[in-house]
Amino acid sequence: MTDRTEPETAPFAGGAAYIRGRFVPMDDAVIPVTDWGFTRSDVVYDVVHVHRGAFFRLADHLDRFERAMARRRLAPAEDRAAIEDVLHRCVALSGLTDAYVAMACLRGRPRVAGSRRPEDCENHLIAYAIPWIDVIPKDVQARGAHLWISGTPRVPDASVDPTVKNYQWSDLTSGLLEAHDHGYDTAILCDHDGFVTEGPGFNVFIVKDGRVLTPDRGSLEGITRRTVLDICADRGIEAAIAPIPRALLDDADEVFTTTTAGGVMPAARVGNRILGNDRPGPITMQLHDAYWQAHNDDRYRTPVRPLAVQP
Ligand code: PLP
Repeated sequence: MTDRTEPETAPFAGGAAYIRGRFVPMDDAVIPVTDWGFTRSDVVYDVVHVHRGAFFRLADHLDRFERAMARRRLAPAEDRAAIEDVLHRCVALSGLTDAYVAMACLRGRPRVAGSRRPEDCENHLIAYAIPWIDVIPKDVQARGAHLWISGTPRVPDASVDPTVKNYQWSDLTSGLLEAHDHGYDTAILCDHDGFVTEGPGFNVFIVKDGRVLTPDRGSLEGITRRTVLDICADRGIEAAIAPIPRALLDDADEVFTTTTAGGVMPAARVGNRILGNDRPGPITMQLHDAYWQAHNDDRYRTPVRPLAVQP
């Protein structure tokens, strides 16, 4: 998947970052250990991808990032236009044409020594472009992922807003550890009331009697999820954001997960159930193919600006 332009046009080939107002090779992007972004996971972030030289749904990712920063009262020095320029520059410096591109706003360190007040901290933007990553490896996607249903409930929405993309992954990581202990690829988490939420780095969908459903709670409003819902609307496939009790997951005809770093990712097993013939389901594959076709749609594409035309 990873592809590179000419080396001389990519000063930080393979990975470029922006930190404290400077562009640096990935390994030079470091933060002090006293940054609250580290000590308290006091960070919001977003991840957009570049596919064949163009960002996919960049404006939607920037909208979500801006909203998340506002919700956590984080304000970096860079405005939206500057953040967009930074992302273009990171990708161009990396020379990658298929990339995972992250932006994060960290609380930073207090300007007043010893202050415990978040508002005293100097918030700052970090961004980077690295080679494309699949949250679920391609070979696992091809056979259909095996999803463990985690015993750890998703943190309540009222405690940590799941629509604000954040680094508080303790529950999601517990799910991953449990899944791997049991020989599964990754996990789905339910909430305290037994409703399906999401997994470590992805939204969850089920298909039942031709109807496509995704949870209405405990979940990030994923851009990939939105693309899948748009595709369903275009193709006349019935789809909804709805409560999904665990029993409905257990009864699903197909299950798949969605994320920027992977797209539409089929599942073949969920808990102790084998779906279909232990293979990705037909509606899942239709949506998978349509998702990648949508990458040719000019409404969604923002070509990466070459370094020569950048500010
Ligand atoms: N849920 C969580 C917890 C995530 O971390 C992610 C993406 O990283 C998603 C869902 C999927 O969101 P998107 O499709 O916008 O990448």
